[in-house]
Amino acid sequence: MVNEKAYALGSKRSAIRELFEYAKKRGAEIGAENVFDFSIGNPSIPAPARVHAEIERLMQEMPSVELHGYTSAQGDKSVRETIADNMLSRFGFAMDADLLYMTCGAAASLTITLNALTAEQGDEFLVFAPFFPEYRVFVEGAGAKLVVLPADENLQPDLEALKKALNPKVRGVIINSPNNPSGVVYTKEKLEGMAAILRAHSETYSTVYLISDEPYRELVYDESTAVTFPMNVYENTLICYSYSKALSLPGERIGYIAVSPKAADAKSVYAAVCGAGRMLGFVCAPALFQRVVAACDGLTGELSVYRKNRDLLYKGLTDCGFECIYPDGAFYLFMKTPEGDANAFCERAKKYELLLVSGESFGAPEYVRIAYCVATERIEKALPAFALLAKEYGLRG
Ligand code: PLP
Repeated sequence: MVNEKAYALGSKRSAIRELFEYAKKRGAEIGAENVFDFSIGNPSIPAPARVHAEIERLMQEMPSVELHGYTSAQGDKSVRETIADNMLSRFGFAMDADLLYMTCGAAASLTITLNALTAEQGDEFLVFAPFFPEYRVFVEGAGAKLVVLPADENLQPDLEALKKALNPKVRGVIINSPNNPSGVVYTKEKLEGMAAILRAHSETYSTVYLISDEPYRELVYDESTAVTFPMNVYENTLICYSYSKALSLPGERIGYIAVSPKAADAKSVYAAVCGAGRMLGFVCAPALFQRVVAACDGLTGELSVYRKNRDLLYKGLTDCGFECIYPDGAFYLFMKTPEGDANAFCERAKKYELLLVSGESFGAPEYVRIAYCVATERIEKALPAFALLAKEYGLRG
């Protein structure tokens, strides 16, 4: 006998992983160069040079036993101090290093946070569509319920829907900006509006925490786009950060949870984070990479590549007549399907070897997601295929 819920999850891949596997199979059949795989958010630019320089420096300067040994469960103290200091210099926020918990990436940050905040089975976490599908797995795994709220016409959070959804069972609201899958960056006004609603509710009922999932924080492409640091807007915030995307280190599994020192019961929340980390076996994140990311915190790879890809793809697709959400950040483009049924559209796209992820699992069944973290030439080569697809729908093509 096994855990049925775990069996169900393990015996079926996510829509993204399914397509990623299909891409590999199809590539073996017709040559990888003939498959336009836009399925997965694997960074396509190298980690900044400083990452490798730091690895080499640490290997030369630190005794091996110490370098590869356990750190404290919540992460090396000097690593946490460096990250906290950077929050002050980068965002003007006075973070407390003793409220930081180093993790194995955003996935671990989220599962730990959700387990820490779920007080009772059936507690609720709210999220705005479109959203990263693993949230459902993480929330339900913690014994809570995911409630999906609509976005407004610009795919920004619908605050009226938030007001209506709040009830005493709500423990938190998960946000993700820059957003996977839409590329949208939530505006400061929206976040301030959200904070006012959550604050009013928290004062009257129980505290609602804002859980800000931030793997894409640094990935923005226009001077005019500013990503708001949520702790500056709402006191009851936990940040689930990851270095996977900004430093192009997804396989190294490294990130952190930051509990705002201004949060209600910050010390108890942090203790619950430490306890949930222990319960889930996420203690002492990879020691070498804790030190590497502390030295590289705030750096990115060469973002001009993503910007170029974004511009090329957005122009190419809109020129064909497709309706797209302009992506301010992350490395995803969200495109409206002309037939309103993303699954059927994705199947048709496969005829042209275009592998796009249906928006169904993101809570937006009329959209598809195109991950443009690929070589620019792949996009150049794919645009004629998109044009043929557009023509099938009577668009300009
Ligand atoms: N959250 C979002 C929105 C993501 O897109 C991803 C990965 O693609 C994750 C969390 C998980 O990131 P990590 O690789 O750091 O676990």
